[in-house]
Amino acid sequence: MTGDTLKGTRGSSDTSVPQEVLPMDKKARIYVAGHQGLVGSAILRQLQAQGYQNVITIPREVLDLLEQEAVYHLFAREEPQYVFLAAARVGGIEANRSFPAQFIRENLLIQTHVIDAAYHHGVRKLLFLGSSCIYPGLAPQPLKEEYFLNGRLEETNEAYAIAKIAGIKMCQAYNRQYGCNYISVMPTNLYGPGDNFDLNTSHVLPALIRKFHEAKIRQDKQVVVWGSGKPRREFLHVDDLASACIFLMQNYDQPEIINIGTGKDISIANLASLVKNIVGYEGKIVYDHSKPDGTPRKLLDTSKLKALGWQPQITLRQGIESTYRWFTEK
Ligand code: GDP
Repeated sequence: MTGDTLKGTRGSSDTSVPQEVLPMDKKARIYVAGHQGLVGSAILRQLQAQGYQNVITIPREVLDLLEQEAVYHLFAREEPQYVFLAAARVGGIEANRSFPAQFIRENLLIQTHVIDAAYHHGVRKLLFLGSSCIYPGLAPQPLKEEYFLNGRLEETNEAYAIAKIAGIKMCQAYNRQYGCNYISVMPTNLYGPGDNFDLNTSHVLPALIRKFHEAKIRQDKQVVVWGSGKPRREFLHVDDLASACIFLMQNYDQPEIINIGTGKDISIANLASLVKNIVGYEGKIVYDHSKPDGTPRKLLDTSKLKALGWQPQITLRQGIESTYRWFTEK
């Protein structure tokens, strides 16, 4: 696609007149990019439950977000007014270590195409899903938004983090230069229905649910948990994340990043015991020290979000119980 064909309804002005902030009403045309994934599917469910009538979704078999031209055509045809950018290549610690090239390339392409198409087609507001791994690996805890770009990244997911950082900076640059209203939210570790339960590429929580469930069925004597069990992580149910994203689409118009989490963390060892208990497995837990621990602790400071009036509703136990039910019934 040439530069000429990229001129959209916003024109090529580089003045920074802030756009008028219009409320996202129930008839607004809302595009959820990545609606087949964990986050996008939860945002879609929540929008539908809240009565939004014009939610646009395109299956990945029909629209490949890695193809720039296809993304521009989608925006020209559907004219979305609001965009939730939840499409991304994501994965757990081992997937990030094994496939850094795919993580950086695909995320850079997807987000660049969607953010730029949104600008050229006059989208009123876009919400970009970042990640808590954009923070320095050894930053003080809990992680405040101001620690962004204050130190070295954790190396196990650096490629992914760099792509997400580029997305945040791109949103901020478009806000500054073109007067866009693109916000970036940083969720903590997520889980819930629709998660990836593949043991090689998943995050820890779905992996533990699957490992304990299968060990219970097979009556195995032990379950292997990666690393030392000492790292601490914070877990947010994806339905809570979706509710926070819709809340922020309606109530937050700042270019600075904003954290979404529960404000509570748990060690991997305690998480393993909790999942074991919920699944009803009676064997032993052993640790595989050849696997990486990753960053020692990742807990978000959520005071900014709390001050706006949003709080999570689903406790970790309730969330794991319902996700386990979903896993066994799917
Ligand atoms: P991270 O938060 O980016 O480090 O991603 P993960 O969710 O993949 O891993 C979180 C922590 O859980 C790391 O310390 C892992 O070593 C640990 N962990 C323990 N068992 C597992 C497992 O079976 N799968 C994964 N992905 N992580 C595990």
